[in-house]
Amino acid sequence: MSEKIIEKNKGLVKADFGFWVGLYMDKFYDTFEQKKIIGNKCQECGAVFVPPRNICGICNIKLPLDQNWIDVSDEGILINYTRTAYKVTDRRARKAKKLNDIGMVQLEGSDTAIVYPLIDFKEDDLKTGMKVKVKWKDNPTGGPSDIEGFIKG
Ligand SMILES: [Zn+2]
Repeated sequence: MSEKIIEKNKGLVKADFGFWVGLYMDKFYDTFEQKKIIGNKCQECGAVFVPPRNICGICNIKLPLDQNWIDVSDEGILINYTRTAYKVTDRRARKAKKLNDIGMVQLEGSDTAIVYPLIDFKEDDLKTGMKVKVKWKDNPTGGPSDIEGFIKG
């Protein structure tokens, strides 16, 4: 038996919404205002999470909100990357004039990686394991876009 699917009115639905990132991410983004990055450390295994988590994925225990926050560097290692027409923050932007480089970066002092655009790299420049550093926005306000992306370290 086959099922026929008829697609009608293909298009985009626009919806404005705000969402709360939670207490851990709130604390994380607050420090961006001072161009600082923090992670939280598991009291059992010592793993450092950037972005922070409320449960350690290794030990499966709760990480307290009020303890074990540590500063990490705004420099790190490019773990992986991709070149795509999509933007990190806007998946509708399919027909971008230029391709964007998006990277997973493990900051020095962290055991996990964050995903941000890679800025001003030529394709041949990009290598996993290379050093990169945060490019901060001029006037950070304590939100995810305070980090514009990563540049050569
Ligand atoms: Zn742990």
